[in-house]
Amino acid sequence: MTIDSTTQTGQLLAWYDANRRVLPWREDPSPYHVWLSEIMLQQTRVEAVKEYYARFLEALPDIASLAEAQEDEYLKLWEGLGYYSRVRNLHKAAVQITEEYGGEMPRSEEELIRLAGIGPYTAAAIASIAFGKAVPAVDGNLLRVFARMTAYGEDSRSEAAKRAAAGYFLPMLRTECPGRNVPGDVNQALMDLGATLCLPNGAPLCGECPWSGLCEAHARGEELSFPVMPAKKSRTVQELTVFLIRDDERIALRKRPAKGLLAGLYEFPNTEGHLDGREAETFVRRLGFTPLRIQALPPAKHIFTHREWHMTGYEVRADELAPSPSGEGIFLAEIREIRDVYSVPSAFSAFTERALAGQ
Ligand code: SF4
Repeated sequence: MTIDSTTQTGQLLAWYDANRRVLPWREDPSPYHVWLSEIMLQQTRVEAVKEYYARFLEALPDIASLAEAQEDEYLKLWEGLGYYSRVRNLHKAAVQITEEYGGEMPRSEEELIRLAGIGPYTAAAIASIAFGKAVPAVDGNLLRVFARMTAYGEDSRSEAAKRAAAGYFLPMLRTECPGRNVPGDVNQALMDLGATLCLPNGAPLCGECPWSGLCEAHARGEELSFPVMPAKKSRTVQELTVFLIRDDERIALRKRPAKGLLAGLYEFPNTEGHLDGREAETFVRRLGFTPLRIQALPPAKHIFTHREWHMTGYEVRADELAPSPSGEGIFLAEIREIRDVYSVPSAFSAFTERALAGQ
């Protein structure tokens, strides 16, 4: 069945009005709020973001305060969310906005996309939700809905698929409805439809979908055949041995390099490979510590997008930790500071918890 895009938009917005998700950043969709939430939501579940979003806004309530924040402060606010380049780029873009736009977020998609960390999807989300511009925010949700609605048979990860999805939804964003931010609401309605009905994993809830009568994949009973996705590349596995070198109050830490994975965050000394007890002792002595006791820790695993860390570890009790042990940028921190001061990424959470036990 075909209908005009105004009717199709009306069906979608009526469903959205009755079923929209209540989310903190929707209550006051200022450019800063939309921007911050969209960046946090990349690779992260809505429920996990809510708490971080509130905490971040409490500490850094606007673009000016974010621009002035120190690295350790914004990294700490991000701790546990992962993908730390996101918050570095947020800060960088806040400085750009302050210097180039007098502290006001630019309104056009073209200007937004020039800011650090803002790609086509985020630019479209900000431009439509905060400024009412008719730009489809094509992410995985919109692509999935599009692919099922039209039974799109090509690779849905391709640029051609994104262009086709944008072309499909654009007339809906341009629908006239005085007093309503149609572009922002259509984009958010599609995000909600994709997240709550046209599900990514498992069968979609077509019986509740406002577009079930228009959907080609549903008509064919082939909802799960779309979107068409190429096989994913497998992740690289990296073996590491992690060391908790400590006495009762202090623990050895080091800062990761300024570039690359988890750049600039803090970590426990570690090395490539799975070391046995003897190798572990040699490693610790090479760092300038004299171990009193070395205890093997349970293995731990962390999965990044393209990489897996398979970690073993040792807790090393050292007597009289030297105030400035030699080698590899290692320094001593109070143990409580790995919770309160230094951002140790969640990849090391099993070891952080072990270090903090009893604190
Ligand atoms: S009818 Fe089903 S498959 Fe089609 S868009 Fe709606 S939820 Fe998705």
